[in-house]
Amino acid sequence: MKNLSSKTFKNEFVNTFDGDETGNLQPRQTPGVLYSKAIPTPVKNPELLAWSDELAAELHVEKPNREDILILGGNLVTPSMYPYAACYAGHQFGNWAGQLGDGRAITLGEWNTPDHAAYELQLKGAGPTPYSRRGDGRAVLRSSVREYLMSESMFYLGVPTTRALALVSTGDQVMRDLLYDGNSAYEKGAVVMRTAPSFLRFGNFEMLAARQELPQLEKLTSWTIAKFFPHIKGENKVIQWFEEIVERTATLMVEWIRVGFVHGVMNTDNMSILGLTIDYGPFSFLDQYDPEFTPNTTDLPGRRYAYGRQPSIGYWNLGCLASAIAPLFQDTESLSAALEKYKTIYFGKYHMMMAGKLGLDEFRASDQELIEAVEKTLTLLKADMTIFYQLLITLSPETTTEEAVAAHFSPSYYELPNKVNIETLHQTINNYQLRISRNQTSSKASKEIMKISNPRFILRNYLLHQAIQELEKGQQTLFLKLQEAIKNPYSAAHDEFFKLRPEWANDQPGSSTLSCSS
Ligand code: AMP
Ligand code: MG
Repeated sequence: MKNLSSKTFKNEFVNTFDGDETGNLQPRQTPGVLYSKAIPTPVKNPELLAWSDELAAELHVEKPNREDILILGGNLVTPSMYPYAACYAGHQFGNWAGQLGDGRAITLGEWNTPDHAAYELQLKGAGPTPYSRRGDGRAVLRSSVREYLMSESMFYLGVPTTRALALVSTGDQVMRDLLYDGNSAYEKGAVVMRTAPSFLRFGNFEMLAARQELPQLEKLTSWTIAKFFPHIKGENKVIQWFEEIVERTATLMVEWIRVGFVHGVMNTDNMSILGLTIDYGPFSFLDQYDPEFTPNTTDLPGRRYAYGRQPSIGYWNLGCLASAIAPLFQDTESLSAALEKYKTIYFGKYHMMMAGKLGLDEFRASDQELIEAVEKTLTLLKADMTIFYQLLITLSPETTTEEAVAAHFSPSYYELPNKVNIETLHQTINNYQLRISRNQTSSKASKEIMKISNPRFILRNYLLHQAIQELEKGQQTLFLKLQEAIKNPYSAAHDEFFKLRPEWANDQPGSSTLSCSS
């Protein structure tokens, strides 16, 4: 176990690639380099609000002392750290946005564990970098609590994600326009320390392609493969690598669909090259089931990043990555072929996942219709997705009449279903029961797979909202409860949260609707 302040950090990325070493934080274009040196800007009074003991144990990091907390706030940089902001580009809402880069994220260095695992340690909200454009490089408590809790929650749900080690308040005030309606106000500032093997995004590769810096593109690609995909061997490494990213992205989309997660800003600069959930902003879990739901107010006009569109946006984003790395291929046929496999890979995984949620022994071709019917029924009922699937686990084969079925699922209703929708539900459930009766495995086995496929606790936005409001007044009770609840999402241990979103939260800004203001 080592302290943050006494550990010798590695800096492989900066030692390998060309960077802007000036330390100049003026916003600007940085052609020819992959990063800029960026020393965090100190804050007034860093105080530790949260620390993930479990992640710390995995990393072999000692609980923070006073010096470590200075590091977490950006007030101390030790000699072995080389703080930098990465330069990347991206497509935002379907349009090429040019250079973006880490506008408020600063990587301090690479933390190697005794068992040779390597993690990037990054501060989010640690002050301006050359990529801050018009932003201040800061993050508010509200968005930092959301990222801290949600990334950890996704980890415990089993969804690939970056993680969060620490959350500190800064003692500084940050000006934000929460609703983008011209009403700016001061909010408390905070910094999250987040970790991942790498924060490289599709956008890092798009940047080099756009600048036509082919030797750098080639070098970044082969370095990424060697360091993060060491199992890829032999000739044609690049195509194997792309195939694996296609596969990982498909897995990630299936996992988001499984737990009802909506990212909210699936721009290509927010797509991890490792297939992780990254950059937690205006995200939400679904309360009532609605494939068209987007939590991001900026996304409302087109609903490009709505829950049900995420898998096809994953494909679109992979297309951007394929275009970026196309110059590395003499003949791009194999690249197109790999991209075109996405749909088949996605649906293969999606069918297996849905079979798990429904407790089917296997996916049979004829199950496609049942899956569609379940999703259609959920959409019609606008039922609470999490509660509905939990009720499906406890559904008895004897619950067969229309009245009994409607009553069984009633805890998942936000509004009483009309006659037609009740008939649809009844029909779907009858078909489901018939299919379940044909399982080759036991009912017990079926229930078990349902229990590990369907979360019982999800970190709903209204809970985050309440916890944040309390924290802003200096109360930690709900925050601490949620920090525990996220660790056991498939158990009934935290059933005080097993209920519908309350009515007060329906149109509450920061709870049901969110902007990118953070
Ligand atoms: P996002 O939509 O959060 O992924 O951010 C898009 C771009 O804006 C990234 O380059 C971010 O680093 C940058 N950005 C977001 N918020 C800020 C901020 N407060 N200060 C500086 N840059 C920011
Ligand atoms: Mg981002």
